[in-house]
Amino acid sequence: MSLIVKKFGGSSVADNEKLRNVARVVTKSHADGHQVVVIVSAQGDTTDDLLEKAAGLNKSASRREMDMLLACGEQMSASLLAIAIEKLGFPVISLTGWQAGMQTDSNHSSARIKKIDPERVRMELDKNNIVIIAGFQGINKFGDVTTIGRGGSDTTAVAFAASLKADLCKIYTDVDGVYTADPRVVSGARKLNEISFDEMLELASLGAQVLASRSVEMAKRFRVKIEVLSSFRDCPGTIVKEVVKMENMQVSGVARDNNVARIALIGLQDVPGVASRIFTLLAQHKINVDIILQSIGRHETKDISFTVAKSNLPDARALMEDHRDSLCYEALEVSDQISKVSAVGAGMVNNPGVAARMFEALAGAGVNIQMISTSEIKVSVLIDLADSDRAVQVIHQEFFG
Ligand code: ASP
Ligand code: MG
Repeated sequence: MSLIVKKFGGSSVADNEKLRNVARVVTKSHADGHQVVVIVSAQGDTTDDLLEKAAGLNKSASRREMDMLLACGEQMSASLLAIAIEKLGFPVISLTGWQAGMQTDSNHSSARIKKIDPERVRMELDKNNIVIIAGFQGINKFGDVTTIGRGGSDTTAVAFAASLKADLCKIYTDVDGVYTADPRVVSGARKLNEISFDEMLELASLGAQVLASRSVEMAKRFRVKIEVLSSFRDCPGTIVKEVVKMENMQVSGVARDNNVARIALIGLQDVPGVASRIFTLLAQHKINVDIILQSIGRHETKDISFTVAKSNLPDARALMEDHRDSLCYEALEVSDQISKVSAVGAGMVNNPGVAARMFEALAGAGVNIQMISTSEIKVSVLIDLADSDRAVQVIHQEFFG
């Protein structure tokens, strides 16, 4: 007998038909003799609908009240799923996040998990119940309901898997695993059988939207083995775990992120302290910077470009304009028509030439590279948004043929 945590996302529980399907998947594991804990997200677009409803009343509602509201979405899914499972004649109980012992800090709308007190869940498992837990929510030390940030149900699932020392955390979704590229963009994209936490983290943060990055970070820290698989098709998914055999697997996936914007400061003085002033300002305003490029100084001036998330562009731009006098630049250029495309693979460290092959593939397709950044397991390029699909396709072709 093993203890399995299963998480079902919003699209997997969107309507009664889908809830019945999830009820079948869950009860099959129980019938096979496993202990089953299920984490659910809100149905379909429920969270967005609730946000919209509140905005119709008050655009600056307090985050405490927003948490009260949004937590209802997951509670609905949890009770509906329990109701569907009761119908199949299995022992089941649904719990809110706080009933299940999920304790968080008081940072409403993006609370951090402090600890899980798993006693209630254990007690219900001992009674042979299937335990359904509302994802994405917890309670703070004042007894107020909190939510842990959009996409938080993945993290809830990993947190419970860690706390209960589950054998496996299965994340059910509408795709049947992690792919070498987005199958909607690359027709030859293949499903991976296994991937390491580090690679998954890069892919998750680079816009391959299968798992929330925070859940992967937590899984890595607590060594929770994850399987990403389809809710609708009964076949093995992708296992995300610590070490993966990497023979010849130089590149395990090609990801892209179109949620980026570039700011360039042209004609800065070529003296010490300039970069520090720019990036201290951005940090003080909590603006995260990704790729940074500084040109070699010429005629006593240099240029510095950097990228930020698209949503940070207005703030970052205003900040640079407000400090034009102290930063002393000649011109400011911004663009949000760009895309970051990356090749990720733990095998890169020991295989020189991955970057060269990637750049050659791009050159062959006439795609101009604006910026480059690399880490031990990733090479990223910044290109025109219009070239994005083609870039992903030719890089995938180069490494996966
Ligand atoms: N319902 C929440 C959201 O849409 C949490 C989740 O789906 O994981 O962000
Ligand atoms: Mg959702």
